[in-house]
Amino acid sequence: MNKFTCCVCQKKIYELVSNFYSPIIAKKKFEIVICKSCGHLSVYPKPSLQEYNRINKYWYTIKFSITPPSSDPTSKFDRWEQMWERFDLKNTKINTVLDIGSGQGWGLEFLKKKKGRLKLYAIEQYKKNWPYLENMGCHFFDINIDEPNWSQNINVKFDFIILRHTLEHLRNPNICLQEISKVLSLTGLVYIVVPDSLGINQKRISTSYFRPVHLNYFNKVNFLRICYNNNLFFKLINTSSTNLKNSEIYGFFRKKTQSDKLEFDNTYLKQVGYIKKKIRVNYIDDLKIIIQIKIKSFKIIYNFLKFLKSVLVKNPK
Ligand SMILES: [Zn+2]
Repeated sequence: MNKFTCCVCQKKIYELVSNFYSPIIAKKKFEIVICKSCGHLSVYPKPSLQEYNRINKYWYTIKFSITPPSSDPTSKFDRWEQMWERFDLKNTKINTVLDIGSGQGWGLEFLKKKKGRLKLYAIEQYKKNWPYLENMGCHFFDINIDEPNWSQNINVKFDFIILRHTLEHLRNPNICLQEISKVLSLTGLVYIVVPDSLGINQKRISTSYFRPVHLNYFNKVNFLRICYNNNLFFKLINTSSTNLKNSEIYGFFRKKTQSDKLEFDNTYLKQVGYIKKKIRVNYIDDLKIIIQIKIKSFKIIYNFLKFLKSVLVKNPK
C-alpha cells in the first residue's frame, strides 16, 4: 500500500475519521482520514487507478439510469447565470475559453451568448457529448486531466478556464491544477468550484455525503492552499449554499506572481470537530442504510452459495 501523503500540505501524519459505505457499491468499505498538519479530509487508502475507473463507470451508469442529466432548457443555464453573477465577467477580456469536463457544453454556449465572439474549447471524455460540442463550433480534447503533462497536447493559452465540481474527483488534484496554470494566459482567469467540507446540510454523512467518486473534501483554507501551491492565486473566493443541498466553495484565480505570499492555518481541530459532530448527530440515519447494505451483500452471498450448491448437486463428483 502506498504511504499516506496529504495532497494539500504534503505531510504524512493522519487520523482515521470514519468508514463510509455506498448503497451503489455495496461490497466495499471506504475510509476517510484527516491530515493532522492541515485538516484536509481525503479517502485513504486511495483505490488503484484500475479500481477507481471501475467504480466511476459503475457509479455513473447507475446514477444516470436513476436521474438522467437534465436537458430542461429553462434550467440548463442556471449554474452559469450563477457564475456570471459571482464575478464581473462582463468587463473581463476573454477571447479563448476552456471548459474542463464540459458535458454538452452549456457553460460555453452561455458565455458565447453573453460575450459574443469567443473561441471555444472543451476537455470532455464522454464521447456521447462530442456531437453537441462539434455543433457549437467548439474544439475539444480527449484528455485525461488526472494524468501528468496533459497540457503538452494543447498549444493554446486560455483567458478563461472552468473546472466545476471536478477537482474533488481526481486522484491527482495537484497535477491537474499545475497543468491548468500552464495553459492559462498571463492575464487569464480560472473558475473553480468544489463542495465545502465545512458546509454540510444533508443528513446522511457516511452513506451519502462521503461517496466513492470523491477522493478529496476541501474546506476554504485548504482549497485556497492547494491552488496556491500550484501557481494559482485567488482574485475572489467565497462559499454559497443558494439553491444547493450542501454549500460549495467557488474561486476565481489568476497566475501567481513572486510577490503573492500567503500563510495558511492548520484547520485540523475545526474540521475534525465539525465532521465528527455531523456524523454523530446523523448516526441513526446512516445506520439504517448501513444495515440495508449489509443485508443486500448477505443476500448476494447467500444466493451465490445456493447456486453453488445446486451446481454441485447436479454434478456430483
Ligand atoms: Zn495536510
